[in-house]
Amino acid sequence: MRPTGKLHLGHLVGALENWVALQREFQNYHLIADYHALTTNPDSSDIYKNSIDMLIDWLAAGIDPTISPVFRQSQIKEHTELHLIFSMLITTARLERNPTVKEQVRDLNIENVIYGHLGYPVLQAADILLYKGDVVPVGEDQVPHVEITREIARKFNDQYGNVFPEPEAKLTKFARLPGLDGSMKMSKSAGNTILLSDSPDEIKARMKKAVTDPLKIRKGDPGRPEICLVYTYHQKFNPTEVPEIAAGCRSGALGCVDCKLNCANHIIEVLAPIREKRAYYESHPKEVTDILLDGEARAKKVAQATMTEVREAMKLG
Ligand code: SF4
Repeated sequence: MRPTGKLHLGHLVGALENWVALQREFQNYHLIADYHALTTNPDSSDIYKNSIDMLIDWLAAGIDPTISPVFRQSQIKEHTELHLIFSMLITTARLERNPTVKEQVRDLNIENVIYGHLGYPVLQAADILLYKGDVVPVGEDQVPHVEITREIARKFNDQYGNVFPEPEAKLTKFARLPGLDGSMKMSKSAGNTILLSDSPDEIKARMKKAVTDPLKIRKGDPGRPEICLVYTYHQKFNPTEVPEIAAGCRSGALGCVDCKLNCANHIIEVLAPIREKRAYYESHPKEVTDILLDGEARAKKVAQATMTEVREAMKLG
């Protein structure tokens, strides 16, 4: 995950819940992709602070660093070395066809794509294959990158001998949580998020702005829950009341103000233990940096062992 600072509900639903569930079943590696952050913004001044903020959210959401190492990409030089080797195994035409980069270029209005941005799926392939990842928990938008990783692994194995697995993408059921403005995705730049660190009052205030059925103006008007964003949130955070809410909305007996407040209260309840753990780590910064340094030392051992195999397979001496 790129270090963009404090995380929001979209990260919790699209990634963190999945990671936490997987960490007892698999050996997880949790990468703070700080070099990747430079592909769309070369300003590195906030990267360390954002990395720590993000790590605190990971820990608060239930990532257990004793079983799943957490580490920064920039601190393990083997990522850049393997990236260089992999960049010889893929054409620029293949990278230009990547729909995720095309989408980013369009959404961010990028006029001239830098070399590092075009090639970031290659760095991502190195991030995954350095640890011989065979399952990659991702959102839908990252599936094309896992496909590129598979192609690179296959190409390397064909060319130099069998070193890497061909990883599979693992999607979550709620892989994308829409933003409060009704757009497809929660994103900080769009200002349509609820942060994991938001206070109960902030959550209630943000929910007030959530878009609903535009034809349901006041209580008494019949509504269409299937097109309402708040209803989508109820499905995720308040599943037991969903049939009752759908019926109340359709008949008009339920008003949007009450419905939003109810939804906010359920989100507040879900986030309460996360907020509590977050406060603990914020007041114990040394514990957080020790966790990071320990994760980096453990990940580095694995990365170095893989690079030894790579150099042997390539007969680099
Ligand atoms: S009552 Fe609830 S589900 Fe229906 S439109 Fe309003 S906010 Fe949406």
